[in-house]
Amino acid sequence: SPTLLDVRGLCVDYVTEAGNIRACDEIDLTLKRGEILGVAGESASGKSTLLNALGRLQRMPAATSAGSIWYHPGGDEPAVDLAALDEEELAPYRWTKVSVVMQSAMASLNPVIRLGEQFTDVIRTHDPRLGEKEAMAQAGDLLTMVGISRDRLTAFPFQLSGGMQQRALIALSLACDPDLVLMDEPTTAVDVVMQRQILDQVLAAQERLGFAVVFVTHDLSLLLEISDRIAIMYGGKIVEVGTAARLHHDAKHPYTRALRRAFPPLSEPVRRLSGIPGSPPDLLDLPSGCAFAPRCELAMPICHERPPELREIPQGRSACFITNGELDDAERARQQAA
Ligand code: ATP
Ligand code: MG
Repeated sequence: SPTLLDVRGLCVDYVTEAGNIRACDEIDLTLKRGEILGVAGESASGKSTLLNALGRLQRMPAATSAGSIWYHPGGDEPAVDLAALDEEELAPYRWTKVSVVMQSAMASLNPVIRLGEQFTDVIRTHDPRLGEKEAMAQAGDLLTMVGISRDRLTAFPFQLSGGMQQRALIALSLACDPDLVLMDEPTTAVDVVMQRQILDQVLAAQERLGFAVVFVTHDLSLLLEISDRIAIMYGGKIVEVGTAARLHHDAKHPYTRALRRAFPPLSEPVRRLSGIPGSPPDLLDLPSGCAFAPRCELAMPICHERPPELREIPQGRSACFITNGELDDAERARQQAA
């Protein structure tokens, strides 16, 4: 399948009084057409910052300080660097090529405008030739697809339950048949049963319409179920990327393994959730070596000295001196003795 998105060296900073917080550090990612890419990591690892940067939704004090987001429209059309476009140039891409589903639906839906009108606004911006009636019919189809009855088109968003608002926003994100839907914890505000229903509807729509998805959540076990590939973030960096299949049975990075233990698969018997001992790094005061080293059971002196590179491994990439086997036997012995 052809490449849809090619993110290179993307850096996003929050400029604060306390200093510069680099919440995304040299992010490299590719996404194929129709692919579902999961992004996991603990709180404050930079997931939302990355997603907002990809959707060009970042607001002050966040700023993309380096890197590019190459979008490939397909056919003979040349790739476009979304990171380099101004608001006016971006307009044709919003909703139509790239749409966003935020964690809180009410932050995106206008509570006092009827659902139908919000849908037809988006639909007719995308296709101005459509009449009001046709646009409203399409809006009804979209709602039906996420299990909401057509007659809710006349409702105001504040009249809907939280789960229904979230599903309406997902339907709206699909209104212009985008190539890419960015989803930031779209189901954390709803209960587990509703979460399952919403995910099933997203997956069914994805199967039918073929859009690609970047899906952000701290819940790795959920991503293992729904993703083709998964990127693991820690302290603003990607520390491991791989197919969901590999991460399921052969996660390489010690942080990925710790996350796996903290979020056991739904299919496994319920255990006491342990969490990961220690706390995430302070982005204003990063250690000089691997950011995970202070919490890592495998850490050796070298891990505290310099940061490991994100290297190619079978079915993905990982940044770890130890599990990548970057130390030869002599060096390993020396490190162990130290
Ligand atoms: P969560 O799982 O809690 O949603 P996240 O992985 O989405 O976390 P981000 O929200 O991207 O994390 O935050 C990454 C880092 O950027 C954190 O250290 C956070 O404190 C910092 N940050 C986020 N928003 C701002 C802001 N508006 N001003 C300053 N720093 C910010
Ligand atoms: Mg977030």
